[in-house]
Amino acid sequence: LHSKLPKVGTTIFSQISQLAARHQAINLSQGFPDFPADALLLDKLAEYSRQGLNQYAPMPGIAELREQIAMLIQRCYQRDVSAELDVTVTSGATEALFVAISAVVQAGDEVIVFDPAYDSYEPAINLCGATAVHIALQAPGYRIDWQQVAKSITARTKLIIVNSPHNPTGMVFSQADWLALQQLVLQHNLYCISDEVYEHMVFDGAAQLSAHCLPELAQRSFIVSSFGKTFHVTGWKLGYCVAPAALTAEFRKLHQYVTFSSFTPAQYAVAAMLKQRPQQVVGLGAFYQRKRDSFAGLLQHSRFKLLPCQGTYFLLADYSAISDMDDVQFCQWLTTEHKVAAIPLSVFYQSPPNARIIRFCFAKQDSTLQAAAELLCQI
Ligand code: PMP
Ligand code: GLN
Repeated sequence: LHSKLPKVGTTIFSQISQLAARHQAINLSQGFPDFPADALLLDKLAEYSRQGLNQYAPMPGIAELREQIAMLIQRCYQRDVSAELDVTVTSGATEALFVAISAVVQAGDEVIVFDPAYDSYEPAINLCGATAVHIALQAPGYRIDWQQVAKSITARTKLIIVNSPHNPTGMVFSQADWLALQQLVLQHNLYCISDEVYEHMVFDGAAQLSAHCLPELAQRSFIVSSFGKTFHVTGWKLGYCVAPAALTAEFRKLHQYVTFSSFTPAQYAVAAMLKQRPQQVVGLGAFYQRKRDSFAGLLQHSRFKLLPCQGTYFLLADYSAISDMDDVQFCQWLTTEHKVAAIPLSVFYQSPPNARIIRFCFAKQDSTLQAAAELLCQI
């Protein structure tokens, strides 16, 4: 077979999680919580399933959930979106990203992505016959140099993909970042995919901003989020995409043939949760900030040097005081010899910098973070 993705292997998330399981290591690699979701959400899932809501949902998602999503966007960003025309429920943010990319990108196009980049973007771009143009961000702040972005735009540039709060670095866009992005998108007639799956995990009193806050940018954007992150249920694979009606119409043409619709009882359960416990979403930033601070505090006396983290549930650590192994080798060694699994940063780059940095996920019970930190402090 002539591979359409010759450079793609098994994702790092599967590789390291398998290694962690095999070596009984504490898994701080793949990003998922090890604590249960709210009991109401779990009860609702069972309840709706028992009630018989187990058949295909409407293609764009159930109306109740799309209405709750529109209300959430109004509450968080004071933007009015049409539940009927602008919101599509998807099987995780992963599906939304794949469909949005496929809906706008044509063969020969260029798409700007920022390294370290979430690993699902580039294969989707390549399957369209297009090229990803990588702009590398630098430690420790990983800020975007918008003048460099402007210089990377060519007549072929069709789309720019941004991700704030940013996985894996924890960088969060400022208002100036959003304005600079909007200016380039409008000036060059680009489309934007704004991957905002960590939107509710912003720390230290920073404003929760979004492409939703900039009306002209929002007019050219597919804004993607994930209930897996927001409600601690990554395995439910439930997300959504918000885009203006014309873009949503194209998006739905693909969504209807990629999957048609997403897991029905989970849609009802999440709609009930958004209606009955909206404070869960509002409190998510404080919830994860406390975990960030307690994990960082526990690692204070380790030889890892922690990088700033403004959002997400990931924390970067520089291990150059411990080893000069490359980060992939280091993560293998850390998992097999010290029983803590983490993700190497270099896998998210086209041209990896010569850095010694790995990513820990702190979406874990306090006892897990404590146990991991004890092991990490012995190294
Ligand atoms: N984008 C980013 C930046 C992510 O970190 C993730 C989840 N790891 C996704 C998209 C995919 O989200 P989902 O699990 O809802 O498909
Ligand atoms: N988004 C998760 C992470 O960054 C993993 C998702 C996946 O396993 N594909 O760790």
